[in-house]
Parts: sequence; structure tokens; C-alpha cells
Amino acid sequence: MYDVQKIRADFPILAREVNGKPLVYLDNGASAQKPQAVIDATTRGYAEEYANVHRGLHYLSNLATEKYEAVRGTVKTFLNAAHEDEIIFNSGTTEGINMVSYGWGIPNLKAGDEIILSVMEHHANIIPWHFLRERMGVVLKWVDTDVNGDLDPQVVIDAITDKTKLIAVTHMSNVLGTVVDVKTICTAAHERGVRVMVDGSQATVHMPVDVQDIGADFYAITGHKLYGPSSSGAIYVKRERMAEMQPFIGGGDMIRTVGKDVITYNDPPHKFEAGTPGIVQMIGLGVALDYMMDLGMDNIAAHELALRDYAQEKLSGLNWLNIQGNSATKGAIFSFTLDGAAHAHDISTVVDQRGIAVRAGHHCAQPLMEHMGVTATCRASFGLYNTTEEVDKLVSALELCHELFG
Ligand code: PLP
Repeated sequence: MYDVQKIRADFPILAREVNGKPLVYLDNGASAQKPQAVIDATTRGYAEEYANVHRGLHYLSNLATEKYEAVRGTVKTFLNAAHEDEIIFNSGTTEGINMVSYGWGIPNLKAGDEIILSVMEHHANIIPWHFLRERMGVVLKWVDTDVNGDLDPQVVIDAITDKTKLIAVTHMSNVLGTVVDVKTICTAAHERGVRVMVDGSQATVHMPVDVQDIGADFYAITGHKLYGPSSSGAIYVKRERMAEMQPFIGGGDMIRTVGKDVITYNDPPHKFEAGTPGIVQMIGLGVALDYMMDLGMDNIAAHELALRDYAQEKLSGLNWLNIQGNSATKGAIFSFTLDGAAHAHDISTVVDQRGIAVRAGHHCAQPLMEHMGVTATCRASFGLYNTTEEVDKLVSALELCHELFG
């Protein structure tokens, strides 16, 4: 049974007060809180088990390397990848997508080639492709969401031409919560020789993900949203695609030999991991993923979908609240504006006075904001430890906002 109170007790920060009120943390879309197991693993990593990885032959270096490398297997299991060497470690999704843009995009694309992007992408899945537009003359083609905030896979498929080389699409919107049918997109793309980069930053937090079933070429995840340390993450790259990629950064650890005129690379995935990595962060990420898998991704998804339904019912009862996006596939992420003069920042300041953390702004999704005709929204994003009582607290804080600004 999913015992949310027991789970909450695993997260020490949830016991604190903010502005004299018990913390209600609804900013999980930005970053999630950490369970004690992750905090303990990082403390132990520095206090008892720290050394650089892959380099030394001494006891601590071997121990740190063993623990760090074991996380590759954990990520493989978490994503159901076929092979451990399809998992490249990094600091998070931003680095992962930049690695694909530089490492796969530059060697495999040319001027005039097209990349299809959804208007719902986070800037992390936009800017690296703009770099290729600016520097190589690659063409960016945008596909829109419909009035409900859904991305119809057919709209994406219809945008494919014989110049299309890549589709860059999110698995779940960080603003609207919409879950995209990336499997249908990947299947159709592959029939046409097109590769697919899926941004899994949000989806992996809220539901089970199987990269083999989806068929993605590239699938990026970010550790700090997965209840792990910041500056931890990974990208899944299908073996065939990895063979087409060049290293994005050069330095220690990614080479086998270095001469004055020649270098030979380490085997993948190490070929794509230069320099001293976030050793303890990655070990912490492994613990966080184990924590989620122990709870069960299906159980987490069921808990959050029940929260979504509860929040949907309560929030849609506020007729002065404009909820953005109404997808049937939506997860427990709500973006909204308020009738009247209240700016998203004003709303978040008022609810913060009640100990409630939400995010206000453009959420690093300016093309989506433009498409929706707003400059900013307030976002309440739920996680595995949130409760219906917290939804009620949010609703009553919003009622206060309406009284103040409505
Ligand atoms: N993609 C999505 C959908 C996100 O929500 C985020 C973070 O907010 C990112 C990418 C970027 O992740 P990071 O900043 O951890 O690299």
C-alpha cells in the first residue's frame, strides 16, 4: 500500500515551516526534495568513501568507482535500456541535449536539414538546436499544440519532409503536464529515417518509462527532479546512434592514448564523459532511483493521478482561475493565471506567505507562453509525497489571492 505519510517522513525538509506555516512544496517541476537515503548516501560518499573514480588503484578509488559505475546499471533498469553502455552520465538534461546537438548534430547534419520541435519544449530542448541553426544553417520547424495543450502525433508526422533529420520533443510538458505519445512519433519517424530526441526530464519523475518500447534514439533525464542530487543526470543513446556521435567535450578519462599527433578514444560510454564527474551526485542519483523503484513507478503514478484528479476538481471550481492546458493525458502539473490584475509573481508571493512553494514565470518555455498568449503563469507541480490536504491549502491560498487582487 502507498502510505504517503510514511513516505513524507523520509523527506526531512517536509517537516520544516516556511513563513511560520508548515511547508507545502508544490515546486517539484523545478526540482524535487531529497529523501534521507539520498542525503545519507551523499554524506557517506564524502565522509567515508570519497576519491576520484577510474584513476587510482588504491582502495578508496576502487570503492568510489565501483559505487559510481553501479549507477549505470540502475539507470539502465530505471529506463529499461537494452545495454548499460547506452547510458552516458552527465549533469542533467541540459548537458545531455547539448551533447546530442554538438556530438550527433554537427557530424550528421548540414545546412538546409530540418529539425522538428514542438512549441511545448523547455528551452533546454530548444537552444541547442538554435545553435545548429545559427552556426550551420539547420532549419527549425515548429509544430503547435491544440487548444487543450495536446500534441497530436499526426501533426508531428505530417511535418516530416525529406529534409527532416531529427524530431526534438518532450515526453511531458513542464508547464501543462501534457504527456506526449512519443512512441507513435518514434515509430513513424524511424519509418522515414528520422531520429528522435526525447526530453524525459518530467515524464521519468511521474510514470514508468521504457526507452526500448518508446524506441527513442536519445532520451534525457535529470537527477535533481528525480529526488536525487543536483548536477546529476544521464542520457540514453541507442547503440547505433552512439556509433554516429563524436565526443562533445574532451579531457581526462575519455581517451585511451594521447600522443602529440594522435589520440585514441576510450570505449563508449566513457568516450563521452570527460573530466572528473559528479561522483557523489551520481551515487546519490542511484539511491534516488532505487528509492523510486522500491516505491514502484506504477504506484507513484497512481498516487499522482489521484492527486491530479482531486486538484483538477478543486481548481476548476474556482471560476476566476484560468487553468492552462486540459489534456486528458495530463499529469499532476497545473499552470494557471488569475482573472484581474494579479501577476503570476504576486500570486506566488501571497501563497508563499502561507508556506506554499509554487513557481511563477515563463518556466523556460517562452515559445509555449507566446502560443498560449500569456507572458507568465503560476505553476503548482506535485510529487510523490504531496497530499490532497496540500491541494486544499493551495485552493484556500488562491481564494485569498482572489480576494486581494480579483
Ligand atoms: N526539460 C524539461 C521539460 C524541464 O522541465 C527541465 C527543467 O526544468 C529541463 C529540460 C532542464 O533540466 P536541467 O536544468 O536539470 O538540465
